[in-house]
Formats: sequence, C-alpha cells, structure tokens
Amino acid sequence: RQELYRELRNKPSLTKDGVAIDLMMNAGLAVDLPQLAEAGAAGIGLFRTELQFMVASTFPRAEAQERLYRDVLDAAKGKPVTFRTIDIGGDKVLPYFKASVVEENPALGWRAIRLTLDRPGLLRSQIRALLKAAGGRELRVMLPMVTELGEIAQAREIIDREVRHLSRFAHHLPTSLKLGAMLEVPSLLWQLDELMQAVDFVSVGSNDLFQFVMATDRGNTQLSDRFDPLSVPFLRVLKHVADAGHRTHTPVTLCGELAGRPISAMALVGLGYRSISMSPASIGPVKAMLAELPLGELKALMADNLAGPAANLPMRALLHTFADDR
Ligand code: PEP
Ligand code: MG
Repeated sequence: RQELYRELRNKPSLTKDGVAIDLMMNAGLAVDLPQLAEAGAAGIGLFRTELQFMVASTFPRAEAQERLYRDVLDAAKGKPVTFRTIDIGGDKVLPYFKASVVEENPALGWRAIRLTLDRPGLLRSQIRALLKAAGGRELRVMLPMVTELGEIAQAREIIDREVRHLSRFAHHLPTSLKLGAMLEVPSLLWQLDELMQAVDFVSVGSNDLFQFVMATDRGNTQLSDRFDPLSVPFLRVLKHVADAGHRTHTPVTLCGELAGRPISAMALVGLGYRSISMSPASIGPVKAMLAELPLGELKALMADNLAGPAANLPMRALLHTFADDR
C-alpha cells in the first residue's frame, strides 16, 4: 500500500470516472510543512494558527507570527493555503491566557471568533502579520466558530482597516484576499444563502459541527462510538451545505476528521464535496480509494437513500457494501 501511495503522490486526485477532487492537508506548525510534498497534498485546507500560540509560553510576537506565515506560504510554493484565525478557548487552552469567568460549558463558551472580536488587538495583529507575510501572493483567511453573520462583518471591518493601514505605509499587499467562514455552529444552517453571500468560501468543521448537532462532547470517549456521522441526519446536514454551495457558486470544503477516513471521504464526495482537507497521512489512502470509485453510481445510491421518508437508516453499512462490491 505504501508503495501505491507513493506512486499516486504526484498524480492529481481523480475518481474512477474522472472527477477531480482536491485533497488538501491540515497543518499548524512549521514541522508539518515537509508533509505537503511528501503526502502529495493539493494545498493546506486548514492551517490551525492557534498551535503556535499553544506551544508558546507567552503570546507570540507579531514578528514571530509573520515569520511562520511567510514560511508556510514559501513552503506551499503557490499551492493554496487557508489560514484560520486563532481558535482558542473550548478544548484549546493557552496556559498564559485565562478567561475571567469559569466556564461550565467551554465548548459553548468564550472561544474562537467570539474571543478575538472581544480582544480585537489579538485579531488585528494576526491579520497584519498575515497581510505582510502574503505580500505579492494570495491570502486566504478563515474565521472559526462563526454563529451569526455580524461576526463576519466585524472581522471584515478589522481586515479592511489593516489593509488600509498597510497600504498607507506602502506595504506590499496580497494580490487577492479571500475570506471564508467555518461552518461549525448549527445556527448557520438556516442562513446558508446569506452566509454564502457574505464570504468567498465556506469550510465545514465537522468535528465541532457533529458535536453541536448531536449534542455530544467531541472529547468524551464514553460517547465516541455512540452516534455516527455517517447516519442519515448528519449526512443530510452535510448535503444541505454542499447543495447550498452549488446553488450559490460558493466553494465549500470540509476540514474535520471525517475527511480523512476513506469510507467517510467517499460519502462526502458522494454528497457533492469536491475539496476536503485531512491529516497528511490520510491523503494516500483517500486518493487510492477515489481512484477506484465510480462516483456516478455512488451519487445515485446516496441520493436515493437519503431522500424522503424511505431514507435508508444503516447508511454506514450501505456505504461499506457499496465500497466492498467495487
Ligand atoms: C473542526 O471542528 O472540524 C475543525 C476542523 O476544527 P478543530 O478540529 O480545530 O476544532
Ligand atoms: Mg473546530
């Protein structure tokens, strides 16, 4: 298998019937960068910028942030990189930065975009570091844990202000700036068209989205096998998002753990996802699976089995049978 993965490494990822699927990798530290070439990723679909903050003993200085972002873009050699603004709080704690109130439900608490909009200095310096590092190249920025569209507008204001500031000082700006939102909080599911109007791309964070849709702590091992992301309700949620992306011509990707297991990656592609981001070690196995996948057949099977009152309940078993029969 390892040999097969190596062989596929520099080939584009195509299904058996020739549909191109972008396989991106998740990363967060400079040590991850050699994996881009090693795994044969099409780019970095999720760069978790908070990791630099989590391994430090104080807030990383603006220069250190800028240096990391520049190194990442250099290593990517023109492949797309999506930087997620710091996603701290919840399960990601900084020992040197504590919330002033004790949170009973940290996953539902003061975290991610909520925290950075309340501490705009943090977001401002990160945005400035990103803008400087991406001078002369494309910059893709993604906001974590968005709950309502006003948060995107507020973040955009901060970004616009930084762009104006840097251009006033004749800084070399990015050639283009794409702003995206992570879809992790279910409230966005009922404002998908408006969401997609408000951003350049959407990335489903299936780890958090599943946690919130199923009301199930993602870190609780007692519950980890209890509910299935490949069940009808969650697959319908994911399809709803993919459909909205097609309807509004907005690129939609998915960057949670779901993307990295061949059987669930297969399901995602069957639902209409054409770009998914995963840990680098998963790219070979997923690429090999796709090369054997008759996507047309899978799409028909999934559409039939997810629609209407006749929805087929054991979707995971059905998908396994489909995969084994090919
Ligand atoms: C997610 O929630 O699916 C995600 C990709 O973000 P993280 O795992 O970093 O919360
Ligand atoms: Mg998340």
